[in-house]
Amino acid sequence: MIPPGSTIGIVGGGQLGRMLAIAAAELGYKCHILDPHEHVCAADVAARFTRAAFDDEAALRAFADTVDVATYEFENLPVGPLKLLGEKLCPSIRSLEIAQDRAHEKEFIESTGARVAPWRSVSALEDVEAALADLGLPLVLKSRRYGYDGKGQAWIRSPEDAEAAWDSIGREPAIAEAAVDFAAEFSVIVARWADGRHRFWDSPENEHRDGILRRSTVPCGEAVAAELEEARSAALRIAEALGHVGVLTVEYFAAPGGPLVNEIAPRVHNSGHWTIEGSVTSQFEQHVRAICDLPPGLTGLMRGGAVMENLIGPDVERWPELVAERGAHVHIYDKGEARPGRKMGHVTRVKR
Ligand code: AMP
Repeated sequence: MIPPGSTIGIVGGGQLGRMLAIAAAELGYKCHILDPHEHVCAADVAARFTRAAFDDEAALRAFADTVDVATYEFENLPVGPLKLLGEKLCPSIRSLEIAQDRAHEKEFIESTGARVAPWRSVSALEDVEAALADLGLPLVLKSRRYGYDGKGQAWIRSPEDAEAAWDSIGREPAIAEAAVDFAAEFSVIVARWADGRHRFWDSPENEHRDGILRRSTVPCGEAVAAELEEARSAALRIAEALGHVGVLTVEYFAAPGGPLVNEIAPRVHNSGHWTIEGSVTSQFEQHVRAICDLPPGLTGLMRGGAVMENLIGPDVERWPELVAERGAHVHIYDKGEARPGRKMGHVTRVKR
């Protein structure tokens, strides 16, 4: 057990790091954030901050010396330099490596027996055309690496779109994936301990717009509820196959023939923000408990459920009205400029 008073290193200093640091502080841990950016919103609530590139080996070595355990809040990180954190890194490099390449991720998910939408690996326009012939229309191209919030994606709705779609993702190695006619999207969020203990939360039903999560609602609707058992057991198989320690999120489509995994995030996730007020133990606290090997916290609902709404870009300007709303839990990340598509905050309304 890593006792309170110890230091948790967090690689990445965005809003997930910020909420992790707040939860860690409640349990008496100090956090040390490493991030290269000018304005690092997690650093504002942490005991210590190093401004350094994610591949700055000298900085990572010095960072490793100051922390008792280290974690990451973001998966587009160079893997080589992070190996310097050695055994202190939780979840391990393996979870990161698999999640950061969409083709490896799909192969891995399928190897655990979980199902994904039909897909092909593509690295030239001819591959895209072959995928079109195999998988039919519509089809979505997704860059293998560095995609998030719908970035690096292009839809092909007619064969003439193929070239423009391939150009728009930068002619980079990608996957082509068949469109899923889903009833709903949802996620399974699980925390796993090194000895295999694990805890799930209620699964949120997630609504996206322009590839970005807008709203998560707990409890989920019937279409999702019908697929939860299968989705949970697949998520647990994935966590076990990774040897994952900490929170793991598996995003799903509730498809007519059963749950299809869309992607995995080896970390706390936007669709779990509702757990801060909606569950006995938040995903952030539970992640700290798992990586420090404290006992699992209860994950039941505090009340009847919760609705979490993201504040994206200029939505955050609604803060005066939101802070005046009775019972609304407002979280502002203080990230600076409210660029379109940027996650600036969220608000959770707990159901009575
Ligand atoms: P992703 O970045 O892969 O999570 O995709 C962002 C969002 O785009 C998803 O949450 C879905 O709403 C939509 N999407 C992605 N892939 C597909 C697909 N194969 N079929 C239908 N919708 C999709």
